[in-house]
Amino acid sequence: MDNHWNLSPAAESAEIAKLKPKYELFINGNWQEPKSKKYFKTINPANEAMLAKVAEAGSEDVDAAFKAAETAFKPWNKLSGAERGKYIYRIARMIQERSREFAVIESLDGGKPIRESRDIDIPLAAAHFFYYAGWADKLQYAFPNKKIQSIGVAAQIIPWNFPLLMAAWKIAPALACGNTVVLKPAETTPLTALKLAEIIEESGLPKGVVNIITGAGETGALMTNHSIPKKLAFTGSTEVGKKIYKAALEGNKKVTLELGGKAANIIFDDAPIDAAVEGIINGIYFNQGHVCCAGSRLFVQESVYEEVLSKLKKRMDSLIVGDPMDKNTDIGAINSAAQLKTIEEYIKIGKEEGAEMYQPECDLPKNGNWCKPTLFTNVAQSNRIAQEEIFGPVLAIQTFRTIDEVIDKANNTPYGLSAGVWTDKGSKIFQLTQALNAGVVWANTYNKFDPTSPFGGYKESGFGREGGVHGLGAYLKY
Ligand code: ADP
Repeated sequence: MDNHWNLSPAAESAEIAKLKPKYELFINGNWQEPKSKKYFKTINPANEAMLAKVAEAGSEDVDAAFKAAETAFKPWNKLSGAERGKYIYRIARMIQERSREFAVIESLDGGKPIRESRDIDIPLAAAHFFYYAGWADKLQYAFPNKKIQSIGVAAQIIPWNFPLLMAAWKIAPALACGNTVVLKPAETTPLTALKLAEIIEESGLPKGVVNIITGAGETGALMTNHSIPKKLAFTGSTEVGKKIYKAALEGNKKVTLELGGKAANIIFDDAPIDAAVEGIINGIYFNQGHVCCAGSRLFVQESVYEEVLSKLKKRMDSLIVGDPMDKNTDIGAINSAAQLKTIEEYIKIGKEEGAEMYQPECDLPKNGNWCKPTLFTNVAQSNRIAQEEIFGPVLAIQTFRTIDEVIDKANNTPYGLSAGVWTDKGSKIFQLTQALNAGVVWANTYNKFDPTSPFGGYKESGFGREGGVHGLGAYLKY
């Protein structure tokens, strides 16, 4: 049966992006050519076309960025909170004013559907700046009876799944707390952070308060091993997170790590099943599953398993996979060829482990990196697809009979970032939120984010919280 609506294409225009052919490093309020003389390409993962060349910061460049941030720290720190707040508000408003341009660039550079970058990434990024602007002159109220102090210079390294949003999560609280920063976006998605640098330049923020440098892992390692930053803030893989933790311990730096996840999304038999199916879809296929808190392990109570599975497959059949710039698209391009390879490898492993795969029939574009929404049934707890983070649109489904059983299964993972619970009973929700080792537990919803709500993990998902008052604490000494 063809579940597709016959929708005409509704493509957003790539022209809105207004990209330059080449981007330099944003250091001390100026655009500087890299001393390394090196550049790399950033491409559109949906068609492999080059979008721009981007500077690769080497050791002299990293050094210049930290020196600029160090020099800028004292005068910035002396400003009153209200003054700092004004700049942060200004940045928030400027993101809103240019939100369409940002959304287009985010989808071009990262492959995510324009509907998501337009309705989620960019508005939430602006909301983070608004929220932390409001705290800048109220820090003492957040930490009553404590002597609070700014930390100094922060080195911030972010991943490619929510590029502008992660930049906002990192920069906004750091500035509100009177720190200065050097931020590096991921090498496959540097463009919105560079656009943010344009806004920062226009906003009149004192030079050197925010420095944005580009490059890959080597540049990141130069940042974390530099002597100037007193705080390392990282979002990315657990593997790199461990290296950063080591660098923080050796350099005696404060650190927050937001790492991988393998979240349990738990459906009880008294759940509103249709809503839960939407929640499963949103949990795993949002942003192609490139989400650290993705609901990648589904646990369904046995008595409703057949119903959930058949509704889920039917809903998967209706998902539109394709051009990220089309407003009808549900699942866009996989962010990079390397990530696609990883996902395909896990799909192969899943089959070899004896799990049963389902993918809807749909045509994929010829060029670019694509993966159909995928689910596996007949999955064992010990299967790698149930244990390891895939970071793609691949769902591993298991069943359970009792609450105790599902709590055990859900917690049987090295990760502890998030979870979802679907039930009609408030008491079950409270029992599970206590029992699940997860930083965030969503009840009858999934993947909901808000700047006022702290986010972060346990175990191999990292530590420290971003968002809310907790997010301020990560940028202060008290
Ligand atoms: P993923 O595995 O999801 O690609 P990574 O953890 O590799 O995520 O990347 C997240 C960010 O960390 C990126 O900005 C990347 O350039 C950076 N990075 C990668 N390796 C290192 C490293 N050794 N030290 C510091 N940063 C790194």
